[in-house]
Amino acid sequence: MISSDTESLIQRAARDLSRAKYAIALTGAGISTESGIPDFRGPSGVWTRNPEAERKAYQSYERFRADPAQYWEERLRGPSLLGNLENMQPNPGHAALAELETLGVLQWVITQNIDNLHRRAGNQNLLEYHGNAFRLRCADCNARYEPQDYDLKRLLAEGRLPPRCRQCGGPVKSDVVHFGEPIPEDVARQSLDEAGRCDLMLICGTSAVVYPFAYLPRLARERHARKGEAVTIIEINADPTPLTEEEISDYIIQGRTGEILPKIVEAIR
Ligand code: NAD
Ligand code: ZN
Repeated sequence: MISSDTESLIQRAARDLSRAKYAIALTGAGISTESGIPDFRGPSGVWTRNPEAERKAYQSYERFRADPAQYWEERLRGPSLLGNLENMQPNPGHAALAELETLGVLQWVITQNIDNLHRRAGNQNLLEYHGNAFRLRCADCNARYEPQDYDLKRLLAEGRLPPRCRQCGGPVKSDVVHFGEPIPEDVARQSLDEAGRCDLMLICGTSAVVYPFAYLPRLARERHARKGEAVTIIEINADPTPLTEEEISDYIIQGRTGEILPKIVEAIR
């Protein structure tokens, strides 16, 4: 059930989005939970249930740097890291953001998610801040590759890991940004540009505690405070976040993104 308060906030967001000249969306794990992908730190989060996985995640980048061949061997011999990510489907929240792009209302989506669901839902102007689990990337020059660009099993059998970049010869890793790994420069730069020029930011399903991503809404708010440029920041989240508490966002629509976002689109149409 959607309360009348929530209903009026949905109408307000629809108005704000219709008037915006340059709106962007920021998304996090919360927009994908309704597709059946758990977040990390929630009650049924991946790490809450498997602390060993968290410890490993923190070591991935170091291990890659220290011994890229070993990193690849472990990945290829171990259980698939994608789990059943391949079988997950975009939900109505993803579809709504794709439609906002088609309608010309939304210029960019900047996501922390690695699950490929925004792309599969149809968003084209997409910045994957933490990479994409279905792609590979050169650790030296950031060239992106599709997994089928390399015969990984054969490289493993022939002892020729890691895969090498076809442009610069650097070692290729998963495109996913591991803990301790810098955000790829191209994506980091463009995300800063978009946060620096938008007049509306729609933040969906992120607790906004992982940096430097969490800096993007703060940057938009600071611009507003320092230069007087109008920026409207809207959150859609199941619960209030630090952005709500610190009044970085103008308002929060509390609820599920898969429910709220389609209603906003409906109100805009
Ligand atoms: P987070 O787990 O820290 O926060 C998720 C937020 O979404 C919480 O505030 C929660 O209350 C809210 N939420 C959960 N379900 C919701 C729903 N249906 N509707 C509205 N809000 C909902 O996630 P984060 O801020 O993205 O940071 C976690 C990090 O983990 C990111 O760096 C991300 O790359 C990674 N991650 C990605 C995926 C994915 O690709 N789907 C999944 C887990 C973690
Ligand atoms: Zn390269």
